[in-house]
Amino acid sequence: VIPSAPGGQAIPSYLGIDVGGTKLALAVGDAEGRILARRRRPTEPCGRPETDLERIVADGRALLAEVGLAPHEIAAIGVSLPGPLDPVAGVIHNPPNLPGWKEVDVRGPLTRAFGRPVHLENDANAAALAEWRFGAGRGFRHLVYLTMSTGVGGGLVLDGRVYRGAGCQAGEFGHAPVEWEGEPCACGQRGCLEAYVGGAAWTRRLRSVTPGTSRVAALAGGAEHARPEHAVAAAREGDDFARAEVERYVGYLARGIVPIVFGLAPEVVVLGTIPTAMGEDLCFAPLRREVARHAWPLLTERLAIVPAALGGDLPYLAGLAAACEAQA
Ligand SMILES: [Zn+2]
Repeated sequence: VIPSAPGGQAIPSYLGIDVGGTKLALAVGDAEGRILARRRRPTEPCGRPETDLERIVADGRALLAEVGLAPHEIAAIGVSLPGPLDPVAGVIHNPPNLPGWKEVDVRGPLTRAFGRPVHLENDANAAALAEWRFGAGRGFRHLVYLTMSTGVGGGLVLDGRVYRGAGCQAGEFGHAPVEWEGEPCACGQRGCLEAYVGGAAWTRRLRSVTPGTSRVAALAGGAEHARPEHAVAAAREGDDFARAEVERYVGYLARGIVPIVFGLAPEVVVLGTIPTAMGEDLCFAPLRREVARHAWPLLTERLAIVPAALGGDLPYLAGLAAACEAQA
């Protein structure tokens, strides 16, 4: 059933598509983030992007049929994709996670299939837009979004608009160094924020420094299997090693955030994935104190540093948020 506005007018619906490295998520929903129908399957790129896109079109058609909408009845289509990509040309360049996808025109086939405006957004920007429109950043004009999953992704909404920067490369806070000559990063530089607070980097570190006697090792079934969630759980139980690891993590996160606060004066910093799992006691309360210790009160007094709010709905809402940009 399609919801109607009080006047009996149909609320515009959007089709959102999130192409992840492993999962494809599609949703039909509205500009308020209400999801009418959704589906999810493994991405399984076959090596021929034309075929992959045909399958995505088929999924989109099936989902629209499920809610009784014809393609011409939706307002727009949004696609959230791993970068680098060009939202103006509608082309994705060479994402490391999608084998065979090199300089692929994504917008062309989708526009031909559905006959509606199609907008592409890189996944970090799409997530930032989703948190801004539907989640923890709702109601703010200036938002910084950072997510600490395997790597560190970032997106900006400034003055109520996504900010993409030159070559659409803005938001790469994960690769701004927090230590000169520090830990090596997957990008080839040293000392990047990601090399301290990215999930892959923290996992690698925990496996090399966790003492066999730590609660982290016990929870993981051996230090060699340690992961961030074990450190977080052990810290919550009061394990000294885990507490020190969590403090170190929060310290580096603050080093990454302070220059952003000085440079952009955001109203809200939304943090996803590892910080969200760490929660208020282990992450947000000490992080706010640490940021306030190193940035002017003028900037921090009005600054909210909060966990991401969309959880498992994020992929669906990222696609829908990208779709809303098609007409913005
Ligand atoms: Zn890096």
